[in-house]
Amino acid sequence: MPELPEVEIARRLIAGQALHRRIADVDDSDSYVVRPHAPGELRNALTGRSLAAAHRRGKTIWLDTSGTGGTAAPGGPELGIHLGMSGRIVVTGPDGSVAEGGDPPYRYPARPGRAEWSRFTLTFADGGSLVLRDPRRLGRVRLNPDIGALGPDAAQVTPAEFRALITKGTIAVKARLLDQSKIAGIGNLLADEILWQARVSPLARVNALSSAQVNRLYRALKSVLESASAKGGAHTGAIIAARHPGGTCPRDGAPMAHGMVGGRSTWWCSREQALR
Ligand SMILES: [Zn+2]
Repeated sequence: MPELPEVEIARRLIAGQALHRRIADVDDSDSYVVRPHAPGELRNALTGRSLAAAHRRGKTIWLDTSGTGGTAAPGGPELGIHLGMSGRIVVTGPDGSVAEGGDPPYRYPARPGRAEWSRFTLTFADGGSLVLRDPRRLGRVRLNPDIGALGPDAAQVTPAEFRALITKGTIAVKARLLDQSKIAGIGNLLADEILWQARVSPLARVNALSSAQVNRLYRALKSVLESASAKGGAHTGAIIAARHPGGTCPRDGAPMAHGMVGGRSTWWCSREQALR
């Protein structure tokens, strides 16, 4: 699933290759992906404009659009893109060159061009395109997305914000890390990696975390995001290879424990992350 590092790769791709190209046509015929809009609504709103800037908070991308009458005209609506569980952004240049970013390609390597995976397409006047390719069809495209419902971006959150957002209430810390309204951008793999790096049980109640544990979680958040961004995604984490029955902790060799926490499949070191 695309988490913050993968979504940032997709955002950079759009910022680098899809801006300032006039939108000649829009295929928004997938009524599920464009809900609550009706097919045709995004096409009417976007045709004749161009993408002007690419932003991201957490796992949500939103794109400024230009006016239809040149640079002096007022801008158009924001175009929100969420990659869901398996979305990739594919940008084709005027010369036919193809660049991709988003969900790691290893899960769906076969038949990368399957037409039915193209859920939303901007066709540019120069002949190229921007496509949301999404095998599982859980991505979303919508106008003027509600960014305000998201907490601060995980890559930007300050230590003081982190402490305040993490420690309120009695929920399990893993569930809190996944709550996009508190801190935006952490998905299942990153959450397990952060908890393992910090040696904190995913089941620990947030109000029971010590000050030292909160500090370790914050430092782990930053280092895990830096590493995943440098290596190309959350699937590059140190405990990924241990996420299976019989897996052992890469640090001390203890058996990995498994359970559902926050509704998600969770792996942790049975020794170093034991609930005290
Ligand atoms: Zn361990």
